[in-house]
Amino acid sequence: MPLSVQIPFTRYLDDQGQPLGELPGWVDDPELLLHLYRQMNLVRVFDQKCIALQRTGQIGTYASTLGQEAIGTALGRAMTDTDVLIPYYRDTATQLQRGMKMEDILLYWGGDERGSARSSSVAAEDFPICVPIATQATHACGVASAFRIRQQPRVAVTTCGDGATSKGDFMESLNLAGVWQLPLVFIINNNQWAISVPRSLQSAAPTLAHKALSAGIPGEQVDGNDVLAVYDRVHAAIERARAGKGPTLLECVTYRLGDHTTSDDASRYRSAEELTEAWKHEPIGRLQRFLHQQGLWNEQREQALQQQLGEQVNAAVDAFREVAEADPAAPFEHLYQQLPDSYRQQRDELLARAARLAGGEHG
Ligand SMILES: [Mg+2]
Repeated sequence: MPLSVQIPFTRYLDDQGQPLGELPGWVDDPELLLHLYRQMNLVRVFDQKCIALQRTGQIGTYASTLGQEAIGTALGRAMTDTDVLIPYYRDTATQLQRGMKMEDILLYWGGDERGSARSSSVAAEDFPICVPIATQATHACGVASAFRIRQQPRVAVTTCGDGATSKGDFMESLNLAGVWQLPLVFIINNNQWAISVPRSLQSAAPTLAHKALSAGIPGEQVDGNDVLAVYDRVHAAIERARAGKGPTLLECVTYRLGDHTTSDDASRYRSAEELTEAWKHEPIGRLQRFLHQQGLWNEQREQALQQQLGEQVNAAVDAFREVAEADPAAPFEHLYQQLPDSYRQQRDELLARAARLAGGEHG
């Protein structure tokens, strides 16, 4: 039996940056458009640098956001400073827009948890990256419940990939958010692949946004490569939640132009033709063409921007390299009020070994 419920889909610009109809009023703000463009470019330059740093052994495994810059950039911009982001591991764009420093992001991917402690005070209550799939959705329900209990006009926003929508944590969180009408926005970055599992094998649902209907909350799709559409719909969902009208699920339809992470090689399971086709829809070129049409952009500005972003990213890498090495005992610090004996013993052995090494002996 065909599923007949229609899920709304929003797209304002086609691949050539041509408006498909009337644009929202806020698009008349050149400052905002240029900000979104600059920020998406920053994400891309930084992302390429992160991959280069991983390839040269300077950070650990990294999850690229290539092709998905519009989602996090629009999302981060639509949130207010007092809202709380509960992210997953492909949220570099969101974190940058939320004011997180690049050197902190590099620290995190370099295996140093101090990167999650945020040296910036902007959006200081945002959560660290959640690596287990979909568990962040349950944390987001807790955050949104706290806002409700405290009667604060704040919104929790959580993100996940297409694969996470198959997890129990995701469905349970949707259900709870619906029953309690929590001030919570669920964002799905549907980049068509969950490592090597394609969207077609992930779920028999016609869209991932349909999953919202089982929880009695609104679900909609947006072209995740159209930053105007993402910003518009995310902003509406956040303000709807803030007004006490409950949660929304937004499925941002995009494409993962890179590997799943630097530990993956997507050429082993997806065709070069599919990738070539996907590049035609990527978000940065689309907005750039629109800006050209609006008389807001030219080649000279583009060159100046790319140079400036390169310098900004290099300065952040320098700052990252200057951070002193972490205390080797740090991993033992935050899990227990009182460290169990077995862990205490391991910690003491580690510290003794570190002291021997510092003293010039070979451990
Ligand atoms: Mg995915």
